[in-house]
Amino acid sequence: APIRVGTDIALMGGLINGVGRWIRRRSQKLHRRMGEMGQHVLESLEGMKIVKGFGYEDRETRTFRAKNQRLFLAGLKLVAVRELNSPISEFASALMAGVVLLVGGHFLARGELTADEFLVFLAAILSTLAPVKRVGQAYHRIQNGLSAYDRLREIFALPAERRPFTPRGKPFPGLGREIRVEGVHYRYPDGTWALRGVDLVIRKGETVALVGPSGAGKTTLVDLLAYFDRPTKGRVLVDGVDLATYDPLSYRQRIAVVPQEVYLFSGTLLENLLYAQPDATEEEVRRALEMADALDVVRALPEGLHTRVGQGGIRLSGGQRQRIALARALLRDPDLLILDEPTASLDALSEDRIQEALHRAFQDRTVVIIAHRLATVLQADRIVVMDRGRVVAEGRHRELLEGSPLYRELYRLQFQKPLEVRHAAESDPEAPL
Ligand code: ADP
Repeated sequence: APIRVGTDIALMGGLINGVGRWIRRRSQKLHRRMGEMGQHVLESLEGMKIVKGFGYEDRETRTFRAKNQRLFLAGLKLVAVRELNSPISEFASALMAGVVLLVGGHFLARGELTADEFLVFLAAILSTLAPVKRVGQAYHRIQNGLSAYDRLREIFALPAERRPFTPRGKPFPGLGREIRVEGVHYRYPDGTWALRGVDLVIRKGETVALVGPSGAGKTTLVDLLAYFDRPTKGRVLVDGVDLATYDPLSYRQRIAVVPQEVYLFSGTLLENLLYAQPDATEEEVRRALEMADALDVVRALPEGLHTRVGQGGIRLSGGQRQRIALARALLRDPDLLILDEPTASLDALSEDRIQEALHRAFQDRTVVIIAHRLATVLQADRIVVMDRGRVVAEGRHRELLEGSPLYRELYRLQFQKPLEVRHAAESDPEAPL
């Protein structure tokens, strides 16, 4: 009889294992579908304006419905298997009990087994059934977990966006005289050479405007200046010392980056400002806001600096957000201020105010700005024209208009801004606006 029971248990084990594997495959599919769904929802919500702007609501709804249907089916199949599993193992146990009874009865009838022995044996077998079933259930749960783990491993195995590098090196002592970009090449992991030999000097206290057609390498260059990565070839020297020998964190604490798309964290406005400089005093915060011409933004808010902004808080306008972001950067009093000027146009008033704020903020400060507006370019001490990963011309507005065909072209195509700005530029191109 023990041999028979052993076979039964093995049979049941095999069954549980088979079903378990099935469940694992099904849950993997379900997890993938859930991921797709989440991503789809996130993207269509973030891109709401685009979806609406292109009149794609119907299309998005259809895609959503299809994806939802697939998710539903994947879930349904999983539940079906899981629920089927219970009657199967119930049936297997009943079968086993039946076999034991039959075999036991047989031996009992032949007098090879006493009634007492048989009952004890039966009780022992029956009491193992529940634990065996529980092992089966645990096994399925483990399979489910393993499939989630597989999915996580897939995600963790994805390559990082940038070449990682070990953050070590000396602490950065601060900018003394200049930053020198020397023969810098940069290749992205996909093989694109974004920079092909850039030479450039940024002197302390100077405002450098980077201009050039899209794809010229401006963003890549400022990313290297912000030490987000190291050049593939060539060097960035700060006061003659290779930037790569400094600890990236200690360097980045001395600079400030204002990206094109200003991001405010959900939290109060003050928390957002202090993000740049946690130990700033109230007076320092006020001065930074004043310099960025953002005091009125704070005044207009119901709870002033303690108003919640960002997600779930009060929405600030594009111009307000930019002035706040500038204040946040200035609060740090950075050795190097890196800005990526927004291409999205603001209303004329906001634009003027930002130009004024920038003008004030740039005095005696080392600034590299990716410029998209004529007014910004005119304010710069030097304009650097980039094209296809190289610096093709440098100088002031007037010189470049004469000397650089690419700059002339950019001027014609990109810098067409409000009329009065253009008039001012034509009458006196060097005049700060
Ligand atoms: P710009 O800021 O002047 O528009 P970028 O520095 O963004 O120029 O881009 C320079 C070149 O590098 C372009 O050819 C662009 O397609 C490429 N590039 C930018 N970012 C990446 C990336 N993450 N991976 C691969 N190529 C990239």
